[in-house]
Amino acid sequence: MTKSSSKTNTLPATAATPATQTVRAAQTSSVVSESALSGTPAPSPLMRITERPEIVMERGQGSWLWDSNGKRYLDFIQGWAVNSLGHCPAEIVDTLITQSSRLITPSPALHNKPQLELASRLVELSGLHQVHFSNSGSEANEVAVKLARKWGQQHKPDARHIVTTVNGFHGRTLAMMSASGKAGWDQLFAPSMPGFSKVPFGDIEAMKAAVDEKTLAIMLEPIQGEAGVITPPAGYLAQLRDLADERNVLLILDEVQTGVGRTGALFAFEHEAITPDIVSLGKGLGGGVPISATLAAKHVCCFEPGDQGGTFNGNPLMTAVASAVVSRIASADFLHQVQQRAETLQQAMKKLQSEGLITSSRGRGLLWAMDLPGNHAVSTQAAALEEGLLVNAARPATIRLMPSLLVTDSEIALSMDILHRCLQQPG
Ligand code: PLP
Repeated sequence: MTKSSSKTNTLPATAATPATQTVRAAQTSSVVSESALSGTPAPSPLMRITERPEIVMERGQGSWLWDSNGKRYLDFIQGWAVNSLGHCPAEIVDTLITQSSRLITPSPALHNKPQLELASRLVELSGLHQVHFSNSGSEANEVAVKLARKWGQQHKPDARHIVTTVNGFHGRTLAMMSASGKAGWDQLFAPSMPGFSKVPFGDIEAMKAAVDEKTLAIMLEPIQGEAGVITPPAGYLAQLRDLADERNVLLILDEVQTGVGRTGALFAFEHEAITPDIVSLGKGLGGGVPISATLAAKHVCCFEPGDQGGTFNGNPLMTAVASAVVSRIASADFLHQVQQRAETLQQAMKKLQSEGLITSSRGRGLLWAMDLPGNHAVSTQAAALEEGLLVNAARPATIRLMPSLLVTDSEIALSMDILHRCLQQPG
């Protein structure tokens, strides 16, 4: 790896905070070895699963990240919509300190107080009946599918099929790769798992045609995040709810990306005033720590002892953190502010569009994508990184934004200034 660019950071003078200086001073204690940061092509100790930029992140606070050279970045990725309250918020830091000195992992086969408190709160807020905790979004979706299959064995023994959507994303376990609709994923680690078929997202007629007597459930994201923040037509979720009721199939919503305030409501399903039979949460639930949850309606809560488990499920360290996160986000005032920040972001993107720098934008709450006039999302992402802004090239011509739910108006304005410059550069 090489050191990050020595190019002057174009961020305003406020970038040189005492915190920045602390980070610079702390460089010498970096856990990354000199050779890993020097220009020598030492083999990485990490398996090659992505092309990471040649910088090493060392510290975060709110909307900001600092690398090991002290350069700071305005973070509009936030761990892929994970850090709902930004980097290292006081709620999480304090809870980790307090809870880690009290109890970390008693055993998943024993009750613990934070787990019970979080489960009760999620049940109360969602209108669903029970919760199972896991560690990642993929696992929460696996649990959703297992629950649906068990329900099917009891109520529709001939139905084993789940209809999902083209370009949907449900995770990277083998089963969730099969449930996902990413091009090529059926062959990537073949054989893929049977039991899933795909219809175009947002097309209610295609879903009606696909759901038959062999269908157990419909499973989809309320907004397709990884696909480039694809929003369905208004009323789609409500139509799916009606269809599921009519045909006696379950409606499973994967709210791993959209849940816990990301779209301006605690759950995206609230926008259409429906309740799914099963919903999975992850990412923003822990605000940065690994925890996910599968929530289900009473008629689907059919697990019996031995059906599901997991060493770390519901451990008090993660559940205490998630409780602190949910308590902060679930208030009407907090969600109202997310909607206001979303409005600011939306207006700023309209300005980029009026100048011809982007062709459209779409999203809800603080999950947004902008389409570029050409396939230069990757070069725009790289130029933004150079200028100290983290954004995600979700598609060749699409940039995705997932800032902290506490992002400020001035941070939004700064992100747009940087993007304005980067989008003017030739791709
Ligand atoms: N479901 C959705 C909608 C996601 O966006 C993701 C991750 O991006 C997942 C599931 C998988 O979550 P994880 O990476 O935590 O397994």
